Amino acid sequence: MNRIEEKSRVLHFGERKLEPVSKEQNMVGFCSRCDAELLSLAYHSTENFWLVCAACSNGHIVLMQYDRQWKWLEDCGLEVFREDGGISSIAKEKLEAVFTQAEIRDMAACQNGQPYTRQNLYRARAKYEKFERLFGIKIKI
Ligand SMILES: [Zn+2]
Repeated sequence: MNRIEEKSRVLHFGERKLEPVSKEQNMVGFCSRCDAELLSLAYHSTENFWLVCAACSNGHIVLMQYDRQWKWLEDCGLEVFREDGGISSIAKEKLEAVFTQAEIRDMAACQNGQPYTRQNLYRARAKYEKFERLFGIKIKI
């Protein structure tokens, strides 16, 4: 899955990390999932492609791939990658898909410097890789 870093807008495209060429917001089309307008978040380029990261007002994001002459090639999946790794920035439904309530509670407690049950955190840590695989988000607690 391709990823874009939330703040820096650096794009992780396959093995490469691309700095944005532009962070201009333009109307670039319509969301294939909900038909809302898509606004560009960032533009990136490689020798072969122009890559446009775009989001609709309902939070769907997409990576649009064009050739160097701006001929549309395909839309690819894209995940927003939050550099801070804090769990407060991650949607609860995503956490609940992988972690138990007790694990989520203790991850938050650990992050906030409050008392927590070590065993829950150990169990949660064993699932970080799975979580990253599913949602493209790296947790660092
Ligand atoms: Zn949408």
